[in-house]
Amino acid sequence: MTLPFDLNQRPRRLRRTATLRRMVNETRLSANDFMYPLFVCHGKNVSEPIGSMPGVYHLSVDNIIKQAENAFKLGVPSVLLFGLPKTKNARASEAYAEKGIVQQAVRAIKQNVPDLVVATDVCVCAYTDHGHCGVLRDGEVDNDPSAELLAKMAVSHAAAGADIVAPSAMMDGQVAAIRYALDDKGFKNTAIMGYSAKYASAFYGPFREAADSAPGKGDRKAYQMDPANAREALLETELDVEEGADIIMVKPALAYLDVLSLMRENFEQPLAAYNVSGEYSMVKAAAAKGWADERAVALEMLTSMRRAGADIIISYWAADAARWLAE
Ligand SMILES: [Zn+2]
Repeated sequence: MTLPFDLNQRPRRLRRTATLRRMVNETRLSANDFMYPLFVCHGKNVSEPIGSMPGVYHLSVDNIIKQAENAFKLGVPSVLLFGLPKTKNARASEAYAEKGIVQQAVRAIKQNVPDLVVATDVCVCAYTDHGHCGVLRDGEVDNDPSAELLAKMAVSHAAAGADIVAPSAMMDGQVAAIRYALDDKGFKNTAIMGYSAKYASAFYGPFREAADSAPGKGDRKAYQMDPANAREALLETELDVEEGADIIMVKPALAYLDVLSLMRENFEQPLAAYNVSGEYSMVKAAAAKGWADERAVALEMLTSMRRAGADIIISYWAADAARWLAE
């Protein structure tokens, strides 16, 4: 049967061959788009798999150098470091210690892979015995002393050679506190990537095993954002930008693509999307059951984040995706 009228537009014409599709492709994903999160722990030659995140490991400094080098060779320009301290206490003292685990890793990576951009996560939840992202007072996270603690941590990362510090605690004024402290200590060229719109998300589940950072009591809803709010993401980001953030971020990414695209429309700063642990682990689990093609699903997810407006995608797939894209 044929249609009884002529079609003026037939979009399928441009989908007919692979080359035509390549010609009109709107969103290109490349290794340059990725930032690779890595978890560093104490010890030598440690490479401890994280059960809920297949392909992700706790790595000692010697092994993290190899991972970082490998990612850089694949074309990934940057890594984001998370630390697992030896001891946790109420003051999160290893978070800002000169010989803390992240500080050691930053020095080692900068020494061995000097051109790789090294970013560090700045939050104390993995370093406090209570697992909250700041200083507790009467059972609540006390904002201003927490922001000050984050600033101290950021300065120690900068002193170790970090190119970018990335405060993720969602304390009010954390970017301002860090910018002031960095400038005061002579680190005016250290950039800040704000976790500007960080939601209190259930997609962080596997990460808490990875970073051993689950709060002992309560949750983080009193400082992270309500997943129902988009306008508030603009407010949070506006504040981060005013306070001096060089890069802004939406976390998580997949369930928040509308927020990403809203941020792209409203801000000029480079925009990062954090493709979080839950987004990664769901695909890994489905693939292990034969229910999903990991590579195809992962690349589709990552492309959607670029399409929504992300310039930088922080992803546990960074190295794999770079390899897939080069094939
Ligand atoms: Zn935290």
